[in-house]
Amino acid sequence: MASETNLMYIDGQWQEADSGKHFEVMNPATGDVVGTAPAGSWSEARRAIVAANRAFPAWAALTAKERANSLLHVGYEMQARKEQLARLITLECGKPLAEAEAEVLYAAEFVTWSAEEAKRVGGETIPASAPNKRILVLRQPIGVVAAITPWNFPAAMITRKVAPALAAGCTVVVKPAEQTPLTAMALFRLFEEAGLPAGVANLVTGDAQEIGKEFLGNPQVRKISFTGSTEVGKLLMRGAADQVKRLALELGGHAPFIVFDDADLDRAVDGLIACKFRNAGQTCICANRVYVQEPIFNTFAAKLAEKVRALKLGNGLEPGVHIGPLIDDAALTKVRAHVDDAVRKGARCLCGGRPRTEGELGKGHFFEPTVLSNVNAEMRIAGEETFGPVAPLFSFRSEEEVLAKANATTYGLAAYFYTRDAARLFRVMERLEYGIVGANDHAPAVPQAPFGGYKESGLGREGGRFGVEEYLEIKNVSIAL
Ligand code: ADP
Repeated sequence: MASETNLMYIDGQWQEADSGKHFEVMNPATGDVVGTAPAGSWSEARRAIVAANRAFPAWAALTAKERANSLLHVGYEMQARKEQLARLITLECGKPLAEAEAEVLYAAEFVTWSAEEAKRVGGETIPASAPNKRILVLRQPIGVVAAITPWNFPAAMITRKVAPALAAGCTVVVKPAEQTPLTAMALFRLFEEAGLPAGVANLVTGDAQEIGKEFLGNPQVRKISFTGSTEVGKLLMRGAADQVKRLALELGGHAPFIVFDDADLDRAVDGLIACKFRNAGQTCICANRVYVQEPIFNTFAAKLAEKVRALKLGNGLEPGVHIGPLIDDAALTKVRAHVDDAVRKGARCLCGGRPRTEGELGKGHFFEPTVLSNVNAEMRIAGEETFGPVAPLFSFRSEEEVLAKANATTYGLAAYFYTRDAARLFRVMERLEYGIVGANDHAPAVPQAPFGGYKESGLGREGGRFGVEEYLEIKNVSIAL
């Protein structure tokens, strides 16, 4: 595909970087350049923040219904242009087209849901202790929001932040991941078409560190919402301390996926495949540790390996492909290192286990869908996020033992378990130290529900009314009559 030049969107204008430089966007399935984006830095970020700050009072003063109407337009257009947007996602991120289309619909739903929720942002009155007093609680938009997003959901991670922020009356500056700026640009064309006033939504691409520093250091930015690695999240948290800047962090995960011996095994196998291999295992809520109770371990492992062997690896644009490439060489190297380390320490590879280095697939970053058994806590894969298509199987004896193991991590994003015992379902659900729990459900992340982590997996929640609340300050007004 011919490469094309794309632009940033600042103060209602499509702009080049001040330096005039660009960076290339690669297709991870082929290594081809699919486009370029402006190599912006702090100066463009500052212009965008100034524009967003200027646009804020008028945007916040609109009625919720007016803001909602603009957002609904964006949401419906995303649905209407599903194929076009999905193609772009597959080209720069690699996920199969069907998954990319599902992402577009998921991303659009954050927009429509937030638009509807905008109308329900209300306040409260509280009975005062003195007869001549009245207490009002107002919820007001925070102000300028800076959003930093990752490459694994190039559309949804943007709308999950931007839509509730705009709905609440905030204005935004977005810095998308350097791997996937093209989808971001396509989304911002829809914001432009929806007639958002200049400065309400801005897009800056380029140097993550310089742009990040400007977001942190500029007092006009009132909140930073970040999705990405725990390492960068901690860096932002330290940086935000100077101005006590509001933060929302969606960081890494290390999800346990527990299969009890009373579970519906076929359902658990299918759930695991959907959860583990989506986006080639590159989601922060992917299962990372699969705990299977001893009596059913061998049956479960055999059923799983048989189905995983049948998954088709390939370019996401081709029909019938289940698993696309990893995002880049570094990702491939890490997945390989985790598998090699596990095998060296005694794990058994039931299927897959290698990168593809030959033929067409050799041009991209492909790793075979892999199932490992005999995995133990000494292996890197047991504690580090693999972010790849590898299912490591651990066996366990009792509920108590598996709960202790499942919670023995600094992460706390998502956890899954399968059981047909109703009492166990409640016990386990309550004791898992995770922000998102799928009980017999591999897909708990939906636009109307809160998404976020315990422990080092993050701060704050996205989705539903919780997601909108992230962008509101609470004001106590005490009136003496
Ligand atoms: P990943 O390892 O998944 O790429 P990162 O945390 O590195 O996760 O990236 C997520 C987002 O954070 C991307 O938009 C990236 O450009 C941005 N980013 C990376 N480093 C920094 C930084 N020092 N300051 C601000 N943003 C950053």
